[in-house]
Amino acid sequence: MRASFRLGRVAGVPVGVNWSVLVIFALIAWGLAANQFPRSYPDRSPVAYTLAGLAAAVVFFVGLLAHEVSHAVVAKRNGLKVDGITLWLFGGVAELRGEPRDPGAELRIAGVGPLVSLLLGAFFGAIAALLALAGQDGLLFGAVAWLAGINVLLAIFNVLPAAPLDGGRLLRAAVWKATGDRTRASVVAARAGWVLGVLLIGLGLWQFLSGVGFGGLWLALIGWFLIGAAGMEERQARTGSALRGVRVGDVMIPQPQTASAEMTVADFVDHYLFAYRHSALPLTEEGRPTGLVTVDRVRGVPAEVATDGRLVGIVSPSDISRAVQRSTLRTPATSR
Ligand SMILES: [Zn+2]
Repeated sequence: MRASFRLGRVAGVPVGVNWSVLVIFALIAWGLAANQFPRSYPDRSPVAYTLAGLAAAVVFFVGLLAHEVSHAVVAKRNGLKVDGITLWLFGGVAELRGEPRDPGAELRIAGVGPLVSLLLGAFFGAIAALLALAGQDGLLFGAVAWLAGINVLLAIFNVLPAAPLDGGRLLRAAVWKATGDRTRASVVAARAGWVLGVLLIGLGLWQFLSGVGFGGLWLALIGWFLIGAAGMEERQARTGSALRGVRVGDVMIPQPQTASAEMTVADFVDHYLFAYRHSALPLTEEGRPTGLVTVDRVRGVPAEVATDGRLVGIVSPSDISRAVQRSTLRTPATSR
């Protein structure tokens, strides 16, 4: 998820928001200010409802950020790199680079987020209880009680055992621990994500059609997102496992067809690019590699790649996908 604008850094991690977060922010603030608060606490001014709705939505997103920051901090402690945190339509994402080294690390990184949401829920619950004891059962109590409920709900939803939710990572850690097979664990969690996605779409459509409201459409949308993300995780897991242990030397084309950097682009297109049916050709001068020209680059200026020494081979994305196919054909039973 790409951040549309940056908010700054929290615990050394860049935090940004995607514009789509505005949609969910507006839905939450509007739902509280225009519906829930006026129904539960009638006869207040529209300004009071609006302020309470906006404040509750802001604090909700701060809590969401705390959830993601906790993932990022624990991931860093377990040796992973964190590219950043982005808030968007379906909440937050902490973009981690690399894989946890063992099931324990996976468990800690995934588990801390829902734990933080649960603790936030308990914290707001305690404040709500104190307000109620003090006889303050107005709009402020309503906002704090809503924050308690929504954070507990967030913790519960996130531990559903289905990728890409935190619970899916916990499931993956458990299967990985039990079988010692990380790929299989990823596939199990991804399949569970697919099942949850289908269930949410079914439940959402049923709610919407039976007139419960637009909340059903939202559920269906989340289900649709889960199915897409789970499918991507399964493909990534299979690709990663197929390429494990494969070296660049194994997939490259040795001694590839080369072209001279001195020739014109027209000659190059007519006599090399289409003649040899490669999407990329290395350029050489007196046997030394000087650059790489691709179909896309022919339209602009060929990029110079400064290299010394000899050209030994070339690897393109299609070489890598061929390696993946070969490996899956070789070992058809490993990751089922
Ligand atoms: Zn999380």
